[in-house]
Amino acid sequence: MRSVTILGAGLVGSLLAIILRKRGYEVSIYERRPDMRSASISAGKSINLAMSHRGWNALALAGLKTEMEELAIPMYGRQLHQADSNLVFQPYSKNNEAIYSVSRGELNKKLMSLAEKEGVTIYFEQKCSKVDVQKNRAYFQLPDGSEKVLDADLLFGADGAFSALRHSYTQMDRVNCDHFYLEYGYKELNIPPGTKEKWLMEKNALHIWPRGNFMLIALPNTDGTFTCTLFMPFDGEVSFSKLNTKEEVTAFFVKYFKDAMALMPTYLEDFFQNPTSSLITTHINPWHFFF
Ligand SMILES: Cc1cc2nc3c(=O)[nH]c(=O)nc-3n(C[C@H](O)[C@H](O)[C@H](O)COP(=O)(O)OP(=O)(O)OC[C@H]3O[C@@H](n4cnc5c(N)ncnc54)[C@H](O)[C@@H]3O)c2cc1C
Repeated sequence: MRSVTILGAGLVGSLLAIILRKRGYEVSIYERRPDMRSASISAGKSINLAMSHRGWNALALAGLKTEMEELAIPMYGRQLHQADSNLVFQPYSKNNEAIYSVSRGELNKKLMSLAEKEGVTIYFEQKCSKVDVQKNRAYFQLPDGSEKVLDADLLFGADGAFSALRHSYTQMDRVNCDHFYLEYGYKELNIPPGTKEKWLMEKNALHIWPRGNFMLIALPNTDGTFTCTLFMPFDGEVSFSKLNTKEEVTAFFVKYFKDAMALMPTYLEDFFQNPTSSLITTHINPWHFFF
């Protein structure tokens, strides 16, 4: 039986492992991070997925659809929070269809556990540093500083936006690739659950505070919280670069997001503790090779 090596145990790597295992391959995954099911992974980049038909189809392939339905909250439309605090609801469909708010972390944990149950081996804290593409040979940095070399039969890169495998491909002749950073970044904030009613806003909606070239969004979680994300330019008149002190951040929220701010008791801590993350698009062509 040919063995398959996958770099990255994120959503794609874990799902791919399950599907290949179901087809009879021997599958191993090498993941840079510690096991998120036992280690606490720092918060701040855990934005929920807004999942639609394609995502559900993928989960059905893995046999996880029914289990995830219990953890998914249907959002039947956008709840717009206008600058004057008026609310406008825009349904996503005429037929009561929805997209679903799903915790990325919980989904990832379930996919990993299912992969292991199917017989996949996941090795954690194995950071791939480079790949010799012609030889299908991957190099890993281990936590003790040593290096490991692994020869794979079939190698898949599912190691995310800054893939070590993709980077190694870009060194090859006749490979086209590019990456493009948006001028916008994002920061995670949080709305806690209410005391009487569980959710402090409409639960079955994707909340958006549109403000021209920046916006705040909030997606519901099953524990009554909302995960909020502020999308905004890094630089410019209204931008992350202009928000450096507590006073500046408070004045910004009072001016643009007063109703949301009233629901976010920890917005200042969240703002300064959580990273401002970038958004990147990458392309590579060809994206698969056989030697
Ligand atoms: C702000 C934001 C909002 C989004 N919203 C949505 C949404 O609403 N709906 C939706 O469908 N999609 C959304 N996406 C896209 C979605 O997050 C990605 O498509 C998805 O996470 C990609 O999964 P992945 O497994 O390829 O990568 P990742 O989830 O990034 O997983 C990559 C894995 O590889 C590991 N890794 C990285 N480097 C190495 C290395 N060198 N060696 C070994 N392991 C490594 C990482 O630790 C990680 O576990 C959003 C993305 C962003 C940034």
